[in-house]
Amino acid sequence: MPVKNRFAELLPEITAWRRDFHEHPELQFDVHRTAARVAELCRGFGCDEVVEGVGRTGVVAVIKGKTDSKGRVVGLRADMDALPIIEQTGLPYSSKTPGKMHACGHDGHTAMLLGAARYLAETRNFDGTVVCIFQPAEEGGGGGREMVADGMMERWNVQEVYGMHNMPGIPVGHFAIRPGSLMAAADQFEITVTGKGGHAAKPHECIDSTVVAAHIVVALQTIASRNVDPMKQVVVSVCTVETDSPAHNVIPQTVKMRGTVRTLDPKVQDFVETRLGQIVEGTALALGARAEVAYTRGYPVTVNAPENTAYAVEVARAVSGQVDPDTPPLMGAEDFSFMLNARPGAYIFLGNGDTASVHHPAYNFDDNAIPFGASWYAGMAEARMPAA
Ligand SMILES: [Zn+2]
Ligand SMILES: [Zn+2]
Repeated sequence: MPVKNRFAELLPEITAWRRDFHEHPELQFDVHRTAARVAELCRGFGCDEVVEGVGRTGVVAVIKGKTDSKGRVVGLRADMDALPIIEQTGLPYSSKTPGKMHACGHDGHTAMLLGAARYLAETRNFDGTVVCIFQPAEEGGGGGREMVADGMMERWNVQEVYGMHNMPGIPVGHFAIRPGSLMAAADQFEITVTGKGGHAAKPHECIDSTVVAAHIVVALQTIASRNVDPMKQVVVSVCTVETDSPAHNVIPQTVKMRGTVRTLDPKVQDFVETRLGQIVEGTALALGARAEVAYTRGYPVTVNAPENTAYAVEVARAVSGQVDPDTPPLMGAEDFSFMLNARPGAYIFLGNGDTASVHHPAYNFDDNAIPFGASWYAGMAEARMPAA
């Protein structure tokens, strides 16, 4: 694939961008230096339009093809933010800000999409428009959600959108993807049980919120074991239990519990939210107490549209020949899901080799993956909008 040869030539330059981002990690929406550098580079490549401040600190760079006979627009997305981790790689280009680190490889994603933007602006060998999307706050802040809410899809008429994440444990240059649900929805809940506190020697004069909470914890296990189809994945974990009394001889008035729900199917997610409420309130009622649930939806399920997944597989095959088209889903969550809910598209994993896992202080993005990732981004644009 000719794209790949060009990226081999551009590798030292793209690597230098990547290592500069690695030295200067920024968190959440606070990616001002990174976003400014991305915008500056994109302007230097001759992109037709570069807009900063989309979804607070996101950057959009537009590249028009040689022709535009059908009004086609393809979005390519990378994330720019780092993590609050103390880096332990010992690399010469380690983080210069203690406590902040590019430990998820978003420095690599941004550099690869910049490489693709440079190539696409130089060749323009496609019939339509490429919209390069650089988003802030993937790590929990919902930067993708903010960019969609800011009207990005409508403003640039984005019709389909593609994203990528590096993956330790998969060889460099190998791709992995699956149609349908690839990553989980991650929701949080807080349960408050209110009974009637009192002397622990007089339980009959109290309503013991601790006993009610214990019944609720056990009853919640029936969501996974008795309610949801065993062929569908679901996790319901109660992770904290706190009473309002530290004493050994007091029946507490209230108990608070917090936990997480992970699902891969939006219908299962809706069901679990409803069922969790029924079990909590019903169990409390049966035991004479009251209970409330505050349920907060986090990132939705990352769902790859089957047709777009097939295109992504084709391009990955052309780039490297090594693609797993049916990789198992992960129970982690991904903010690109908001973009995939707004437009059809696909999210693909690119091997990072035998490295520490993402979010580990010894993790590092492998620069040898750059030609593969940049080729895939550029290849998606060219394949979806072939030159007239
Ligand atoms: Zn991450
Ligand atoms: Zn990540």
